[in-house]
Amino acid sequence: ALVPEDPAPAPPVTGRMVILTLHDITALRRSEQMRADFIANASHELRTPLSSLLGFIETLRGPARDDLEAHERFLSIMHDQASRMARLVNDLLSLSRIELDEHMPPAGQVDVLDRLDGVIAALELKAASRRIRLKLEAPERVPPVVGDEDQLTQVFQNLVSNAIKYTRENTDVTVAVSLADGAMVGFTSAVPLAQRNGRGHPMVAVAVRDQGEGIARTHLPRLTERFYRVDAARSRAMGGTGLGLAIVKHILNRHRGRLTIESAVGVGSTFTVYLPAASDAALPAAEPARRQ
Ligand code: ADP
Repeated sequence: ALVPEDPAPAPPVTGRMVILTLHDITALRRSEQMRADFIANASHELRTPLSSLLGFIETLRGPARDDLEAHERFLSIMHDQASRMARLVNDLLSLSRIELDEHMPPAGQVDVLDRLDGVIAALELKAASRRIRLKLEAPERVPPVVGDEDQLTQVFQNLVSNAIKYTRENTDVTVAVSLADGAMVGFTSAVPLAQRNGRGHPMVAVAVRDQGEGIARTHLPRLTERFYRVDAARSRAMGGTGLGLAIVKHILNRHRGRLTIESAVGVGSTFTVYLPAASDAALPAAEPARRQ
């Protein structure tokens, strides 16, 4: 599917050299199609709660005008629908902001354990509502990673929040931090020192493990697509927007990080994030100690 950019004008001829600009229109069409699908999906996701809101407003103005009990009930549903729209708009804005600066590598240094402590504290109530215990396992010392603090917090927050949403009630969700050699996870852009050592870039790995129903293998490659859900009704019922993992993927692209997903149906899933460490600091050899 390689065609001239513009078939009408004759290509410029310089001596015997012919310059022809070629474009892969298959890739171009595919990206246009993806954009169109994205807009259609986003509009559909917004239209559903919006229609419901409009319907309730009409009912409150008409048939249920004097029914105080109905007012309470309907207002509570309307609040849920408006919250769903707000979550969706927030996620759409996050996604577009992240895409805008995806090509600018982050410059800061982030303390992963500090971020995870914050995320776990913030999600404790949500976990308790499903009788889920959140556990953090980590070595005593973890080198800082190169990154943007807010964006990495969002990565951890999305993964832990998914584990809470999709795991079985009364189970454990474990966040395990460890240190990895980048070469082991196919991370090739090594720092010069690491190259001399014949090793990949040192990475910090954060694995979020649940004891949920797991995800069938066929879904795994598509999970980070926008609006891709294994069970759309379940995702919506749990307050999902279908954008969480797409946001994770884009943030990790910017951080030159990696996401791996392992899952066994009936056993559970592990989402592991690999992030380049900011320094080649000596990595402790000790076994991970339980911190919680
Ligand atoms: P959502 O808002 O629907 O949770 P995500 O992009 O975060 O959107 O996740 C996409 C889909 O991946 C979810 O709808 C769900 O089907 C599946 N998923 C994500 N995390 C898990 C998990 N820990 N266990 C099982 N399924 C998961």
